Amino acid sequence: MKKQYIIPIFVPHLGCPNECTFCNQRNISGQMKNVTQEEVKETIEYYLDLFKDKNAYKEVAFFGGSFTGIEVELQEKLLKVAYEYVKTKQIDGIRISTRPDYIDRQTLKRLKKYKVKTIELGVQSTNDYILAKCKRNHTYQDVKKASRLIRFHGFQLGHQMMVGLPESTRLDELNTARDLAKLKPKMIRIYPVLVIRDTQLEREYEKGEFEPLSLEQTIEICKELTYFFEKKRIKVIRVGLQSTDTIVRPENKNSQVVAGPYHENLRQLICASYYYDLLNEKIKKINTKAKEIEITVNPQIANDVIGYKRENIEKIKEIYNLDVQVKQNPKFSLKKMDIKITKTYKDFADDDETYVKKR
Ligand code: SF4
Repeated sequence: MKKQYIIPIFVPHLGCPNECTFCNQRNISGQMKNVTQEEVKETIEYYLDLFKDKNAYKEVAFFGGSFTGIEVELQEKLLKVAYEYVKTKQIDGIRISTRPDYIDRQTLKRLKKYKVKTIELGVQSTNDYILAKCKRNHTYQDVKKASRLIRFHGFQLGHQMMVGLPESTRLDELNTARDLAKLKPKMIRIYPVLVIRDTQLEREYEKGEFEPLSLEQTIEICKELTYFFEKKRIKVIRVGLQSTDTIVRPENKNSQVVAGPYHENLRQLICASYYYDLLNEKIKKINTKAKEIEITVNPQIANDVIGYKRENIEKIKEIYNLDVQVKQNPKFSLKKMDIKITKTYKDFADDDETYVKKR
């Protein structure tokens, strides 16, 4: 499969009719000014130069605002710059992200003209009460209508959803995932809510009216959602905000994250937790007093099986008093996991006997 590169161009809050309670794109992207045509060109050139694999799939992505809510003249100016690179085949596609209520036939025709391939909708939740609570100013009905139009016009559809929004429960989030799967997006981004500086959510948090999810709760719900989407063959392309100089742990003095389940390796923690569950299930079924096992997996998942900082192996050792060796076999499929018992307590008893006899 071809490697994929994204050239991110931030348009912080451009086109947004209001500020959603959890959002401050200037603090998230670290970009205070609005982007110009020259800056789009410079950014594309910078990244093209940086990319090592020249045959990779390259995409320009306008993120961080409501692209189709931007004044049409400016939308076209920004798109034109990227489109020149599509025409000369230096980039393969353009992606934009926007709000569900800012999609109609005319808008889609304009995006088609500039060869936009992918449209990501910020959905966040399909529960209208939760949407109103965080001042999204659109409904689930808008999401359904926009998603159908986007697919009907031949674009790739992406959805972005959040977990841990005010008053949202695990059940609301599973319902959102089920609702979105029915709209057949090609890809999903899952964003656990972080309390970002200078937002309404920060004020609610300070007053004790909002409590973010813990990291453990986040891992559990994101694991469930990732598993659900993958079973439906919907690719989860991101979990959690991208780490930057300012999107770092809240303890860091430069951080724009006031509180919440930020972790620079969130995706790995989720994958590791998934494999821990799998491993746990398999170990429970072992019908011998095992002292050591050998697990064989594909090299691509070996680190996740071992866990972040070897956490899975250590937990298994602590709970089952079991040593675990992980072996890699590139011929294994990503789903295959073989477990072989390499030492039992009986072997150890025999060893001790031999030892005694030799002395
Ligand atoms: S969440 Fe989206 S629509 Fe809301 S303020 Fe942020 S960028 Fe704008």
